[in-house]
Amino acid sequence: MADLTISEVIKKYKFRYKKSLGQNFLIDDSVLDDVVDGADVGAEDFIIEIGPGVGTLTRELLKRAKRVCAIELDDQLLPILEDELKEFDNFELIHKDALKVDYNELIGEEKSVKLVANLPYYLTTPIIVNLLTKGYNFKSLTIMIQKEVAQRIDSQPNCKAYGAFSILVQYYCDTEILRLVPPSAFLPEPKVESMVIRLDRLSEPKVKVKDEALFFAIVRKSFNMRRKILWNSIKDIGIDKEELQKCFERANIDPKRRGETLSLQEFANLSDEIGNVK
Ligand code: SAM
Repeated sequence: MADLTISEVIKKYKFRYKKSLGQNFLIDDSVLDDVVDGADVGAEDFIIEIGPGVGTLTRELLKRAKRVCAIELDDQLLPILEDELKEFDNFELIHKDALKVDYNELIGEEKSVKLVANLPYYLTTPIIVNLLTKGYNFKSLTIMIQKEVAQRIDSQPNCKAYGAFSILVQYYCDTEILRLVPPSAFLPEPKVESMVIRLDRLSEPKVKVKDEALFFAIVRKSFNMRRKILWNSIKDIGIDKEELQKCFERANIDPKRRGETLSLQEFANLSDEIGNVK
């Protein structure tokens, strides 16, 4: 049984959990299978795993993938992983902060690169932003994260969870929530529910924009104060008010609408109109 195995491993190596590193280890085999199946791991794939813990998920990935490279920050886990996974010759372990890794160096010439991780909660947003905005050649990211963050990522206009982070992720990826995971699937149990979500990287961003920095600046401003109408959120964008009024008209967007009602395409249209007169 998986939970016994984890408990045994922890006992054998006298491992001590570090709360600060978000160490909640997966003990439910059905979740493990769903993560690996959801990531569609096959013999052609180079898998990068962030935070392998004691290697439970890593082992399943190693059985199916061409190669697995795991990045772990906690030095107590290194000898455990090396020992427990020594039978695999397609395993590489890197002792580093996942936020400080140059993923291009790891990826090299690999073509089918997938990221799989049960992420520590504190790392979720910064690592997703890092992995998506730096143009790394990932086919997909299959990640276990806090339920509310997964819902935010997957949310559509007019939903409470829809915001600047939904737009950032959906600009780069198709998103699909694969399953809900209860706290009882982990040791120790976290206080919150989790979800497994897959982000499939698009070959081109979902909408075409002339100026990405301006597009994201407008998106951020539009959600800074959720109750504000668009006009009030972006009136200080740096163009004449009459010109801004015309931009809204040409983009066919009522400036009294709130940011949370706009689709990615509408944000793109507005940003391009503003960009044309800036
Ligand atoms: N993959 C294991 C599993 O599913 O049982 C462990 C997942 S646990 C939620 C998160 C793991 O990420 C831990 O092993 C923790 O030490 C590691 N970790 C935390 N911060 C990290 C960072 N900045 N870089 C790399 N690994 C990190």
